[in-house]
Amino acid sequence: MHFTYTAERQRIAIQKSGRLFQASMDFLVSRGLSFPKNGRSLIHPSDNFEVDLLYLRDDDIPEYVSRGVADFGIVGQNVLAEKGIELPVVSKLDFGRCKLVIAAPRNSRIKEPRDLQGRRIATGYPKLLSDFLAREGIEASIVPISGSAEITPELDLADAICDIVQTGATLEAHDLVPLFTLMESQAVLISSPFAKQAKDRFLSEIGINSTV
Ligand code: ATP
Ligand code: ZN
Repeated sequence: MHFTYTAERQRIAIQKSGRLFQASMDFLVSRGLSFPKNGRSLIHPSDNFEVDLLYLRDDDIPEYVSRGVADFGIVGQNVLAEKGIELPVVSKLDFGRCKLVIAAPRNSRIKEPRDLQGRRIATGYPKLLSDFLAREGIEASIVPISGSAEITPELDLADAICDIVQTGATLEAHDLVPLFTLMESQAVLISSPFAKQAKDRFLSEIGINSTV
């Protein structure tokens, strides 16, 4: 594939390491982009497209894209929803599938969401959890943490957790039972609200029909 569009370099923000990194690279490569295999500076230029990758924490990707510092980003719907930033989704990418669930210890009396009344729930997703609790009219104490929610019931930091799961193996290993799914998620290609024409040209170069 050759590159014809030269007006402006496109910046694509992807997770710098973690569960989405390799699949994001594979997706871009499958669309014809190639990248030199050298180190991982924050900005990584393509060697055949007018494109730079920005390697970021996944949590920061919506902010960079919403401010137009990155033109595109690849991020989980879970992160996008938690940030509460409205951005055009160009395409669902069919990888990074997972679910945001509430789970409680097998031996606890919490068997369904309304049993969470008055309880402590540890989560890295305080916004999505508080939206859910408000919708259900449940008053519970949200314990905000940034990772490893699954250990918090055994440490008595929380009575239940709200976290991302894929296979459920991590929950099972900690004797936690899923009670309710708040959302299903996969990785999406998001677009900044700026320079629409330039971005549409780039998307057609890599064979993606923009729906935004
Ligand atoms: P970062 O250092 O970029 O903040 P992170 O630790 O927040 O990384 P990862 O665990 O690498 O994030 O997960 C990135 C994304 O991968 C998640 O937000 C989610 O969309 C997706 N994902 C898919 N399966 C899982 C899973 N089993 N556990 C966690 N995230 C998953
Ligand atoms: Zn993260």
